[in-house]
Amino acid sequence: MIDEYAKKLINVGELKITSGVLEMFGRRGILLPITSYQYLFEILFKIFGEKIFDILYECGFKHGKTSVIESREKFKITRREYLDNIIRAGNLMGLGEAKIISISDKKIIIRLTNSPMVEIFKKMGIKTKRPVDSFEEGIFSGIFSEIYRTKMSSKETKCVFLNDPYCEFIIERQK
Ligand SMILES: [Zn+2]
Repeated sequence: MIDEYAKKLINVGELKITSGVLEMFGRRGILLPITSYQYLFEILFKIFGEKIFDILYECGFKHGKTSVIESREKFKITRREYLDNIIRAGNLMGLGEAKIISISDKKIIIRLTNSPMVEIFKKMGIKTKRPVDSFEEGIFSGIFSEIYRTKMSSKETKCVFLNDPYCEFIIERQK
């Protein structure tokens, strides 16, 4: 089964896999099994402990910000359409299925199911009472800070890792 959005991107040449190069929106990517990330996270966790979540947030922030900077000019569409596209692109990257639940200029609520991070941290068997999707948290902060042109904070308030039915993120304009 291939996602409808993926089919569309393949048709318009925005998703290509040729000669060992995978490209989406003209940006090269890598498809790795979750265990590869697990090994990386295990090493980071051994060295940095729970600081790994700050590291992931920071990486996510840069990822989100760069995604917007590098793709903004490609779309002559409304901000909402653009946001829907960037969220669908994230879903396509295997980052789970994100959905915008509500959106205003000050506050956005996003729900995420099938988070790969939850799976990775479960495989790692670490014990923590905090949500684990810091990478996505950072991504949303980066995306919305860049689109809204002001610092937008992001907080994961529910997480499947903590037995919530889904992961939920509140993104807010920073006071
Ligand atoms: Zn989560």
